[in-house]
Amino acid sequence: MNMSAYIPVIGLEIHAELLTKSKVFCTCSAEFGGDKNTRCCPVCSGMPGTLPIINQTAVEYAVKAGFALGCGINKFSVFDRKNYFYPDLPKAYQISQLNLPLCINGLVPIEYEENGEKKTKNIRINRIHLEEDAGKLIHDDLNGVSLADYNRCGIPLIEIVTEPDIGSAEEAKAFVEKISLLLQYAGVCDCKMEQGSLRCDVNISIMKPTDTEFGTRAEIKNLNSIKAIGRAIDFEIYRQGKLLDMGKRVIQETRRFDDNRGETKSMRSKEDAHDYRYFPEPDILQVNFTDEDLDAIRAKLPEMPYERLERYLKNGLNETDAKIIVNQKILSDFFDSAVKAYNNPKSVCNFLIGEMMRRINLGEVSLDNLPFTAEQFAKLVEMADTDKVSKNDAKSVFRTMCEKGGDPEEIAKAEGLLISNDTGKVAEVIEKVLAANEKAVAQYTGGDQKVFGFLMGQCTKELKGVCTPKVIKEELEKKLRSL
Ligand code: ADP
Ligand code: MG
Ligand code: ZN
Repeated sequence: MNMSAYIPVIGLEIHAELLTKSKVFCTCSAEFGGDKNTRCCPVCSGMPGTLPIINQTAVEYAVKAGFALGCGINKFSVFDRKNYFYPDLPKAYQISQLNLPLCINGLVPIEYEENGEKKTKNIRINRIHLEEDAGKLIHDDLNGVSLADYNRCGIPLIEIVTEPDIGSAEEAKAFVEKISLLLQYAGVCDCKMEQGSLRCDVNISIMKPTDTEFGTRAEIKNLNSIKAIGRAIDFEIYRQGKLLDMGKRVIQETRRFDDNRGETKSMRSKEDAHDYRYFPEPDILQVNFTDEDLDAIRAKLPEMPYERLERYLKNGLNETDAKIIVNQKILSDFFDSAVKAYNNPKSVCNFLIGEMMRRINLGEVSLDNLPFTAEQFAKLVEMADTDKVSKNDAKSVFRTMCEKGGDPEEIAKAEGLLISNDTGKVAEVIEKVLAANEKAVAQYTGGDQKVFGFLMGQCTKELKGVCTPKVIKEELEKKLRSL
């Protein structure tokens, strides 16, 4: 197939679970995990006669997400019932939003690399609506049964729908990473794809450059890693291209990605909106915001990535380093805590990007499970800056911190690397060395500076661990000058 014969057209639907304490329509815990079916009540398990009450924090978080993604907020918003029958949905309908979602018309800038070239693009957001999550089905192939866990039923979920602005797997991956970053900074979702708190459906079609209309799309459901998103898109471009090359049609359907085979498989033909028999949810009040309400929510939005980047640049970090730190919220938070403990951003950054990232990339430590605190890290950087440990020895102290954790000063002491900077001891040693090497001293005072290195070496040998070569050199020069 001639890949350049077709232009891929991609739109994403991203589901993000909101970090509220309780579920969206009842008071059950919304925390991840828990024994099966222990976090449910009559409301979220769909008992007849129960009434939902909307969780205001969930609404607030959805609006925050809207602000974070550059959306406009609908002051008037309505919930609807989306009806379908499936065992993970005990009510047989999902409370969602159809025509009047909370947020509309956003814009998200992405940066990515394609064929070694740095590129930027703006992806339009069509809408963000608030809905409830469904339960989880556990398929037991051994016994040929499926089990239902309803703990996830009613967890607040936002669905972010893009316009079909995405043109490749690289763009799609960069977009999902950016959304994940923005939602984490906004504090509304932890975006753990492996736990399912961020999930992505990919809609994809291809068209010829001369076509005036989009082609028929396939929807690939529930991709749960950035890598899977990229692979599924590349496979689908190839599959649809092959069909069109053979003069066949792409059919509109829902597909699933098989991670092992790297292929998408047909699941079912795609439903249209009217198949869901949407109608206004009669048990939930409509949402009405005043300007003051929205201003108050906007004011609660924490520092966002581009603001943090600006702050780092102002603090003297270079753009490459600042971006590496900002692009991982957990790293950036660590950096901020370290700088709070030792106010030298450049120095903390250098050690972080150099030594710490190196050990993380080697797989020796992981950011979400560091054996030392940001304060201990900061202390080590400060010790190196103030010559309590040499720059080189700081690296070996850090290696121990990565292995076992602990206080850098204690480690340096235990490993005999702590520099005491005992000035009395320095003077004493210099005195002793000069007395023992009168000839060399006479040579030096006679104008032969070459012997300085020799004297320096003698002092250094005895002052290892007491002070840095820099201090020895200064003190020795001072002493010789005074002779
Ligand atoms: P549905 O709700 O049935 O999934 P939507 O119209 O809300 O359909 O669109 C869902 C997603 O599909 C959006 O992200 C949209 O940009 C994308 N999309 C729509 N048409 C196409 C197409 N022809 N090719 C690729 N993506 C498309
Ligand atoms: Mg859809
Ligand atoms: Zn409940």
